Amino acid sequence: MTGWWHGARRWLGMAAVGLCVASPPSAAEIAVDVGHTLVAPGATSARGRSEFEFNLDLARALVEALEGRGLPVRLINEDGRIPSLQARPQAASGSDFLISVHHDSVGEHELRPWVWEGQALNYNDDFAGHSLFVSRDNPDTARSILCARIIGARLQRMGFVPTHKNGRRRAYADTQHAVHYYDGLAVLRHARMPAVLFEAGVIKNRDEELLLRDEARIRLMADGIATGLAACLRNGVPADGEAEADALS
Ligand SMILES: [Zn+2]
Repeated sequence: MTGWWHGARRWLGMAAVGLCVASPPSAAEIAVDVGHTLVAPGATSARGRSEFEFNLDLARALVEALEGRGLPVRLINEDGRIPSLQARPQAASGSDFLISVHHDSVGEHELRPWVWEGQALNYNDDFAGHSLFVSRDNPDTARSILCARIIGARLQRMGFVPTHKNGRRRAYADTQHAVHYYDGLAVLRHARMPAVLFEAGVIKNRDEELLLRDEARIRLMADGIATGLAACLRNGVPADGEAEADALS
């Protein structure tokens, strides 16, 4: 088919529905939620650092990576003072996607004591790796799963290895990419947009904790998540023409 005919047919198609100018698809806004708060900072790492601090580092890197792709971003709970779990999806209202950033721990009974820099702490070196969670009580479970599995696929392609520790208690939405159902999670369930909770790694693992604090690796992981999100949110959205197809790539 010639370009001329293709163009004419497209024009006729638009004229038939009363359109004169095709508007380019607007970029989806992504809400990035920093898990936990200053007063309830989540688990403590093998070396005594709070989960909230890990979450904040990765969330900030993710904001940068998304903005670098031209995607508008809203960072939620950067100051660690959000009043409730329900306030998180409320703060995301109007965004097209919500990702809540967390770091994983292990059960009390799996912890072993050790002393680090004079501090009595605990650790577990049995588990390492990232995992993802979605809720079937979210209004867009299908898109939530799609985004989670694309993020997981991208991270694995980059060399990140997922953990299957959460498969012991949480059913899989996608086994290969360690995407689990966790229907009751408030941040996912109360969100009015597709939502994923991301566990970046196990901070009780002494080796993985150091990796999770490494700035270059944090940026790399954020880059992988951003690539996955950009791909997933554009999935099924056709480019309207050559110029827009180029703009999207
Ligand atoms: Zn957490």
